[in-house]
Amino acid sequence: MNTVIILAAGEGRRIGFRKQFVELCGKPLFMHSLEKVLDIFEEVILVLPEDYIDRVNVHPKVKKVAGGKERQESVFNALLKAKGDIVVIHDSARPLAEKRLFLEVMNLGEFDGKIVASPARDTLKEVVEGKVIKTLNRSLIWHAQTPQAFKREILFECHMRARAEGFIGTDDASLLERYGYKVGIVEGSYWNVKITYREDLEFVRKILCGS
Ligand code: C5P
Repeated sequence: MNTVIILAAGEGRRIGFRKQFVELCGKPLFMHSLEKVLDIFEEVILVLPEDYIDRVNVHPKVKKVAGGKERQESVFNALLKAKGDIVVIHDSARPLAEKRLFLEVMNLGEFDGKIVASPARDTLKEVVEGKVIKTLNRSLIWHAQTPQAFKREILFECHMRARAEGFIGTDDASLLERYGYKVGIVEGSYWNVKITYREDLEFVRKILCGS
């Protein structure tokens, strides 16, 4: 059995509002990801802010779970309910992720986890207090996205270890890397943007709704 966790419990601190509930062509942003995965996964978990649990109506198959203060805590809360051997995690803030990415990332092969990522296009600089320190080796740099898939027991173990040492990563793969597990990649596309700022929202609206 496979499980998908759709994360929609953020506060939208950078954009200034809870972007997951913004209407995009007739339905809230989070619904675009949720509807895409309903027929792929046997277990579907939607993580929402606690005060939205009773306000959101979804397909009866979907389990609603209250999120936490950090993204990592939201994933952990969902993991406590998840039963699948493989767990796929997806940010609802990426409504353009193609269905094929969910299918490909689950094919773990020799890996403990696999992530969708795309190779860096720009030249990347390390900058400290406005001063360029060095140029990174672009051929080694990839942009990590979601969906990300993991063996559930390994992901849970990594979350427990990270909690014990107070480590917070910006994605789930970073926890597996930290504890020596093998993470592979599926090449994604630049279309799979994460809505972080208002201009991202307008871009996604144009692609999804054509206006
Ligand atoms: O904040 P950021 O853009 O990195 O969030 C990525 C995804 O994680 C979003 O879909 C957001 O709703 C979700 N999230 C969450 N719980 C949090 C913080 C973020 O489910 N506490």
